[in-house]
Amino acid sequence: MASTCCRKIISVSLSKNSLGAYYGVIKRNVHDDKVRSKTYDIIIAGGGMVGTAMACCLGKNPKLSNHKILLLEESAEKTWELKPEYSNRVSALGSNSKAFLDSIGAWSHIEQSRFKEVKKMQVWDAFSEAVITFNDENLKDDIAYIVENDVCMSAINKQLKESKGPVETVYKAKIKSLNLPSKTDYSKTGSVKVQLEDGTVYTCNLLIGADGANSRVRSAMGVNYLSWNYGQMGVVATLQLSEPTSNIVAWQRFLPSGPIALLPLTDELSSLVWSTSTEDAKLLLGLDSESFVDYVNEALWKQYPIEKPVEAITKNLSSLLHNIFGPTAAAGARQLPPSIKSVVEGSRAAFPLGFGHSTKYVGPGVALIGDSAHRVHPLAGMGVNLGFGDVDCLQKKVAEAIYSGSEIGNSQYLLEYETERQRHNFPRMVFIDALHKLYGTSFMPVVLLRSVGLQLTDALTPLKKIIMKQAGA
Ligand SMILES: Cc1cc2nc3c(=O)[nH]c(=O)nc-3n(C[C@H](O)[C@H](O)[C@H](O)COP(=O)(O)OP(=O)(O)OC[C@H]3O[C@@H](n4cnc5c(N)ncnc54)[C@H](O)[C@@H]3O)c2cc1C
Repeated sequence: MASTCCRKIISVSLSKNSLGAYYGVIKRNVHDDKVRSKTYDIIIAGGGMVGTAMACCLGKNPKLSNHKILLLEESAEKTWELKPEYSNRVSALGSNSKAFLDSIGAWSHIEQSRFKEVKKMQVWDAFSEAVITFNDENLKDDIAYIVENDVCMSAINKQLKESKGPVETVYKAKIKSLNLPSKTDYSKTGSVKVQLEDGTVYTCNLLIGADGANSRVRSAMGVNYLSWNYGQMGVVATLQLSEPTSNIVAWQRFLPSGPIALLPLTDELSSLVWSTSTEDAKLLLGLDSESFVDYVNEALWKQYPIEKPVEAITKNLSSLLHNIFGPTAAAGARQLPPSIKSVVEGSRAAFPLGFGHSTKYVGPGVALIGDSAHRVHPLAGMGVNLGFGDVDCLQKKVAEAIYSGSEIGNSQYLLEYETERQRHNFPRMVFIDALHKLYGTSFMPVVLLRSVGLQLTDALTPLKKIIMKQAGA
């Protein structure tokens, strides 16, 4: 590196490729050897699971091999070494996410690392005997995969590096300002400007916001963002089961304070996601290990008083369903959840929970993906699954735009992306939010209504199959 202290511009080089995009260093500073301004076709802001998957996907697409792509990540680069202890941040990935990760070559890395198949899921209500079991009759099929977020990130990053595609990555990239074309001017591509705090300026045709729930890209778009906080936190931890089991079931119990879920990691370990009030979450984090385990066991096992009408109606419905559909339809055919022996030291943490949906996913020269576009309660384990769906859809639209000879940020393709994904995401988000509200009360008529609904759904295997298929997204 040059050691001279004078700040002198030593080169101005611009080249143009066959598709007309300008690349290259246009100013180079001898003092710190930093590139001051560069042009890319696509910039992705945010290198979480979704943004990195987007970069990987675009980088691997042969239609984009002549294009330059930049991934900007605010935090420092991490070395993704597999530690012996399990991370407390895991995601339940559906079959569509598995297929997507497979399509970018990342799933084989996950397989070589570690993950756990979920073969069955049991969801039950603390205030009634109502229970629903998914995949009860067929334990051969996987219904989800529990993957540590770090393992997922490591796998996608490996593919990104191995693909040697046209993607550059800049870490510690703190965005200072964003200049987007005016809201209505879809003709002005190429005029997106991203300035970092270190002074570097990047321009591009398409900026993809993958910068999470507090997205700066979304703010710069000036779109309406429908959002609220649940006043809850998701307490996570790695738990040791009292007895080793085949541990293939994902458990979720709806308590009045929020759902508690156990996701299998190994025969002896499960991952906890316990959504509860912010106050209780703080209390749970401050408890000694033994008391924390007592609280978890109580949340899974405690018998709440069941109101007489709820008990009578659900019992009668149960025997009616038993007569019509046979024994599998009888409510109360629930399996007992495992009990917990201990919590892995240092594995407890809590994350605020909220709902958020951007009314627009796209604007001139810009698109949102993942949590920057939508944020959901973790009770259905859908957040990153929806994000991977966005990536898959947007990369196809970008490739279609190029194939048809249009510009990368062509409005028609961006709007198609928005329509497809909003139609897919929004109904699921509303459903998750409704479930959260429905189970957030112990008011008898509501308990009765949801218990009857759960029993009926449990009895209708084709309906459960549809739900599982939709949840795989
Ligand atoms: C307790 C809990 C449990 C969950 N369980 C599940 C589950 O089982 N299944 C599931 O599908 N989902 C689950 N989720 C949701 C899932 O974790 C999120 O949907 C997912 O992490 C979102 O990924 P993302 O890449 O869009 O955003 P993020 O993970 O928020 O990543 C954003 C990235 O952008 C970077 N960044 C931010 N601002 C900037 C900037 N200005 N410039 C550059 N970089 C920036 C950040 O450093 C970060 O790396 C859960 C969430 C919680 C809280």
